[in-house]
Amino acid sequence: MNLKISIIGSTGSIGLSALKIVDKRKKDISLHVLAANKNYKIIKKQIIKYKPKYFVITDLNIYEKIKKKFKKKNTKILNNFDFFTKLKKKEKSDVSIIAIPGIAGLEPTLSIIKISKKILIANKESIICGWTLIKNSALKYNTKIIPIDSEHFSLFQLLKDNKLNEIKKIYITASGGPFLNYKVSQFKNIKPINALKHPKWKMGKKISIDSATLVNKILEIIEAQKLFNIPEKKLDIIIHPNSLVHAIIELKNGLSKLIYHQTSMIIPLANAIFDGKLNIENFYKLKKKEKMLHNLEFRKVDFRKFPILRIKSRANEFASTSIIINAANEILVDQFLQKKIPFLTISKIIMNILNDRNYRKYAIKKPKNIYQIKKVDTWARNLTMKKLNHE
Ligand code: NDP
Repeated sequence: MNLKISIIGSTGSIGLSALKIVDKRKKDISLHVLAANKNYKIIKKQIIKYKPKYFVITDLNIYEKIKKKFKKKNTKILNNFDFFTKLKKKEKSDVSIIAIPGIAGLEPTLSIIKISKKILIANKESIICGWTLIKNSALKYNTKIIPIDSEHFSLFQLLKDNKLNEIKKIYITASGGPFLNYKVSQFKNIKPINALKHPKWKMGKKISIDSATLVNKILEIIEAQKLFNIPEKKLDIIIHPNSLVHAIIELKNGLSKLIYHQTSMIIPLANAIFDGKLNIENFYKLKKKEKMLHNLEFRKVDFRKFPILRIKSRANEFASTSIIINAANEILVDQFLQKKIPFLTISKIIMNILNDRNYRKYAIKKPKNIYQIKKVDTWARNLTMKKLNHE
């Protein structure tokens, strides 16, 4: 077997997990395209260690620096994803992993679909903002899509055996993040340094903040609706601090099924790469299961601590609502990380935007291409900044 793999976002948390899998199967895998933004040190190391055929570096300064340094190497250094359209059919990757955070991941996703037999999408923001484009393009280029978010990877498995009309309820679990056990009164003092410390997962900054506000679960509720066509009323969020059960389906026949796996993204990634036909212990050391099964805990969500969960029924109400929520959240997370706004302002402004007098006009738009998506996204970003200036 020689599996040609591409990793878009190779220097980040998901990208590095994927490369740990590559490290265990060096003989069977060759790296086709790697892509990152500006992490000079890791990009340099990856070119030397993995010798990918192409490395896309989007930051112009870092691109120039790396191109100069590696001009004699075989890896072709590029600055954008446009060249994918020029690649021949026989240059297709067997598996491409998309792990750029935010809507910035959407265009690279659409490009890489064209040159991939199978894409593993970790980037939930591109699914929630551009699912129709992704789905249509995957159909056109005969590309298989597998979601990598652990909840959606689990649902992807569970829904293979059960049709939606056999299911009474679908639960997506939430660890509750670092502030699950805070008192409501403590939330106003939360600083970025506290919010970045997730108790269970080691992830990039954006998703860590989303997991602290629980906006991440709103994004995931939308993601599940888009990917699997699940009606919102069938979906629920349940707090599960252990992060071991990722999704549960409750069937009308009285049985429930769930997917349990250790808190590591290597498990969904390796299963998706090798179609479930693998011995995971060749990739990852499992802990003793009995110990962990004793302590499984589930709780109801506390809306006083995580007010954003109140928008669940509205999060996908119109075609472009998800683009608006995502854009506002991206701006707000960035402002919070720069210490310009308090933690609670993130949820407050997102909820406020859903009640803005112009919201409906943009939310009902049905974007047919990336430019129309960007138009809604830009409107929501500007409105978010305007609202922050009036805070
Ligand atoms: P990180 O912040 O750790 O990594 C982001 C990666 O994307 C880096 O390689 C970064 O490059 C690269 N990147 C960022 N912007 C660009 C750009 N414009 N062009 C090219 N490359 C870019 O993020 P995560 O790995 O944590 O998350 C990635 C995605 O996966 C997110 O959408 C997240 O929601 C999702 N996800 C992550 C999980 C996790 O466990 N981490 C779990 C489930 C979903 P550089 O380092 O050079 O800046």
